[in-house]
Amino acid sequence: MTTPRIPDPATPIALLRVWDERDYGDLPYVLVELTPGFCTLALERIALVTQLKAAGKHSLYELAYWDTHPTWLTRPDTDALDEEAADAIEALFDDADDQETVFLDPGTFLCTITDYDDARLVSVECTRMLVTPEGITWETYLKHTSVTCTTAQLTRAELEKYAPPAPPAPVLRPAFVPDQPTPEPLPAGALTVDDYRESQGGCCPVCKSGDITGDSCECEAGTVWQDVCCQACGAKWQDVYFLQGYDYLKLSAKEA
Ligand SMILES: [Zn+2]
Repeated sequence: MTTPRIPDPATPIALLRVWDERDYGDLPYVLVELTPGFCTLALERIALVTQLKAAGKHSLYELAYWDTHPTWLTRPDTDALDEEAADAIEALFDDADDQETVFLDPGTFLCTITDYDDARLVSVECTRMLVTPEGITWETYLKHTSVTCTTAQLTRAELEKYAPPAPPAPVLRPAFVPDQPTPEPLPAGALTVDDYRESQGGCCPVCKSGDITGDSCECEAGTVWQDVCCQACGAKWQDVYFLQGYDYLKLSAKEA
């Protein structure tokens, strides 16, 4: 059993079309808040079902989870609104009928849609999030009925658009600081420093095995050092990285 609630108007929202198994009349729509937490959760579940299918679980069709993220509501009654707001809301729900999924930027008409008429919120129970590699849908029962409703799909690509960016990968490239005395002569066939840099590291410069392990990185003034050891031949060396720039810059919410 779920209690309908008002979505947060500061969050991007998806409005999804809903179908039921018979022509029930006043069909609900679904509002889903596309919070970073929700998008990340959905994408993790999509990744899981994708992995399970790739691992040869051919009889697996989808994963189902009990879920209370969506808000179910009927098309609002716009009679009490001024003409401009009423037209905008009618157009929005017409778009949802045509396109099946509509995305709303934070603050767009949402207060008007949800705040003025709680009676438009629909009570449902036993809502399940159904997850396939392509995306997610929801299925629910209208409360006290056996009428099953199914939403349009939120695709993986759509969820990725609203998910928080992955933690920034360090923008680093192997480089060499010639501050060491000339090393002992290299064994035949070993990679020179230039060869190693061109190969982007990742293997032992002596025996070229990929079975190498690195310690934690030490960083100072734009340079990073990492002690690395080859498990195959026992060679030890240090990878040296220089700062290249930054990426994924985000201003804080109050400055944006
Ligand atoms: Zn080695």
